[in-house]
Amino acid sequence: MYESTRGNLYGQTAAQAITLGMVPGGGLFVPSTFPDLNWKDLQGLTYRDVAKRVMMPYLADFAEESLSEIVNVYSDGRFDGEDPAPLVSLGKFGVLELWHGPTAAFKDMALQVLPDLMKVSLEQFNREEDVLILVATSGDTGKAALEGFKNRKGMHIVVFYPDGGVSPVQERQMTTTEGSNTHVVAVVGGNFDQCQTAVKHIFASDSLKAKLQGKNFIFSSANSINWGRLLPQIVYYYWAYLQAVSQGKITSEGKMNVVVPTGNFGNLQAAYYAKLMGLPINRIICASNTNNVLADFFATGVYQSQRAFFQTISPSMDILVSSNFERFLYEMSGRNSEKIQSWYDASNQGTFTVDPTTLKACQDTVYAGWANEEETLETIARSYKAYQYVFDPHTAVAMKVYEDYLSATNDQTFTVIASTASPFKFSSNVIRALDGERELNCKDEWEALERLNILTGWKIPWGLQGLDSKTEKKATSCVPEGIAELIEKMFID
Ligand SMILES: *Cc1c(COP(=O)(O)O)cnc(C)c1O
Repeated sequence: MYESTRGNLYGQTAAQAITLGMVPGGGLFVPSTFPDLNWKDLQGLTYRDVAKRVMMPYLADFAEESLSEIVNVYSDGRFDGEDPAPLVSLGKFGVLELWHGPTAAFKDMALQVLPDLMKVSLEQFNREEDVLILVATSGDTGKAALEGFKNRKGMHIVVFYPDGGVSPVQERQMTTTEGSNTHVVAVVGGNFDQCQTAVKHIFASDSLKAKLQGKNFIFSSANSINWGRLLPQIVYYYWAYLQAVSQGKITSEGKMNVVVPTGNFGNLQAAYYAKLMGLPINRIICASNTNNVLADFFATGVYQSQRAFFQTISPSMDILVSSNFERFLYEMSGRNSEKIQSWYDASNQGTFTVDPTTLKACQDTVYAGWANEEETLETIARSYKAYQYVFDPHTAVAMKVYEDYLSATNDQTFTVIASTASPFKFSSNVIRALDGERELNCKDEWEALERLNILTGWKIPWGLQGLDSKTEKKATSCVPEGIAELIEKMFID
């Protein structure tokens, strides 16, 4: 069963949590208890079967056959290669490549299954309505969600991205999505946080909900506030551990560290849930870019989102209001929903200070650090020289923070770096880093893709091939304050 982080809802089924996306009165759905799962019971299984075993105890209201079908996405060719999430060993650490799905970012790991989880959830209630999925994106969620939901019967999806705040490849990926049920909106004069806040307001608006209900629509979310996004992400931490064991990197009962390049804290929270289920995880390392609100929090206990926002070369981490952090604090405070409520009270405007006991629990679980732009570029170049391995800028942030962690602690525990995107998604910046020239002399992003291929010998992921020649749909545009009105125009008028 699922409950709200804010103590305003208990005893909800997985189907309810996934259909609603977030708790109607505010708050996020979290499991009431965590099942134990011993990694030894998963040895020798395929990714698909590990996924089934990890997810099953959380989906008590799903029929086993439905889940078996749902996890087929991991073996039916939608992820290239035999292994959807290979662990590439680079000596004392490994890189968990989570970007072999159709959009070349780790969001596919969950967004390829969320539409099916949602479909089954809706069937549980015999809901006749169509679902309207609203998504705010800092770049990668948008395309992965569009790809997952396109041409789904009874489902419509609208993606909001900050105009000028995403990479050219990310933008083109979104605007070239096929499917009559997909819509893309460029939000002018707003960053990701404003997009996300506007979408959250829509979820909280009873009047808009009622109007849409009149048109036979219900709302849901494909952002990582939706439990159906986090659940499939727990799987690959088990998978990483299993691979590390079979590669001889971890000996019996050994632990592993994980490093997560963090934005909305969903990926990191999934690692923490794996730890709660009994996976031998030692430290979880939270890596931020110049938008280092989390690094500051772990140092001081003050969450201060009222600060300058930086547009960086790791755009999917350009987030100041990290939604899933609420789920983390729920556990760290000993599931104290009153505290969560006081910290997330709208009048705090995204700034709060936690008590010393909660802060201590946070620091005992997570090591946090950050890397600036120059360090990120240097890390891409340095790592390529050392390992002939090409990091995308997000993963490079994680690599840099891992190096800092090593110098600070000399912890020799085998460490897994969650690699969240293919370097080809951010080709021009990766080339800038590798060439050591800070000026790019490629004609455009498409030439940069080819150049990166020639420079490194790495293959361009199939999802990014031929993007320049695909037909673009015109993205609608609006200002952050106009999002609700636009939804009315699109679906009610
Ligand atoms: C979304 C994303 C992140 C941040 O993940 P969260 O779960 O939001 O913390 C990091 N890197 C890439 C490439 C992403 O797409």
